[in-house]
Amino acid sequence: MEDNLATTGFTISYLGTGSGGCIMRNHTAIVVECPTGERILLDAASGNTVLRHGQALGMSPTDFDHCLLSHSHADHCEGLPHIEMQRSRRNPAEQPMQLYGSERALADIGTLLALPTRGLNVDADGALRTDGRRSITFRPTEPGEWVQLTPGVRARCAPVNHIGGAIAWRVESGGHAVVFSGDTRWCPELADLAHGATLLIHEAFCTEDDRSQADNVAHATAAEAGRIAQMAGVGSLTLTHIDNAFHADTEPLAAEARSVYDGPVAVAEDCWQQRV
Ligand SMILES: [Zn+2]
Ligand SMILES: [Zn+2]
Repeated sequence: MEDNLATTGFTISYLGTGSGGCIMRNHTAIVVECPTGERILLDAASGNTVLRHGQALGMSPTDFDHCLLSHSHADHCEGLPHIEMQRSRRNPAEQPMQLYGSERALADIGTLLALPTRGLNVDADGALRTDGRRSITFRPTEPGEWVQLTPGVRARCAPVNHIGGAIAWRVESGGHAVVFSGDTRWCPELADLAHGATLLIHEAFCTEDDRSQADNVAHATAAEAGRIAQMAGVGSLTLTHIDNAFHADTEPLAAEARSVYDGPVAVAEDCWQQRV
């Protein structure tokens, strides 16, 4: 795919772009490389997606010092123990991964990491290796609060309409912003978070034909994603979290979003890199 905007310095790497039930694509993980060079991981997929597809795109697990978590469904976070293990193996002196999320999601991650066979000790602040070295630090984040990830990169979250503790993220660097919806039903409040962003990455489970099905599983249609993009006045929209039915032909999703949003629309694929 071609780049669809004059670049402002972000490179977005889509490591996994499938819905939870998708068997054609990997689960959700996205790397935002900021104009200042830092790589911010948005969600951690399941299994070794971040490690494998990250490596294919020239990334090391030790690049991921900051992870912003949208929610604690398995398809967004079960890769975390694998990332933690590789970071600890490759660079034992590595600083702990800073894991940002809602208090509720981080409590679930604590349970995920505490499985005895993982060899981790979990406390309220994160996870520690058996030698006592901290490898993950939990950073509970309140909606609306700016968190300074690095001197040149900050982020803010807002609640969305999916499961308890689900949030969307806005990452800002160099005067530009990328917004990620995570999983959500139609959520008009997301337009405030995404206002004027360079890029909105929004989930799109199906088209309006199957609207009730999307609502039943707490997801959005492509038209709903397009409406948020239009309301927020973003520079560009990328659809992700694609289900089996649209894997081979994503054009119906893109066409529906384009019918309500005036800007450029793309549909992500695993290992696609987008410059904005
Ligand atoms: Zn999901
Ligand atoms: Zn979900």
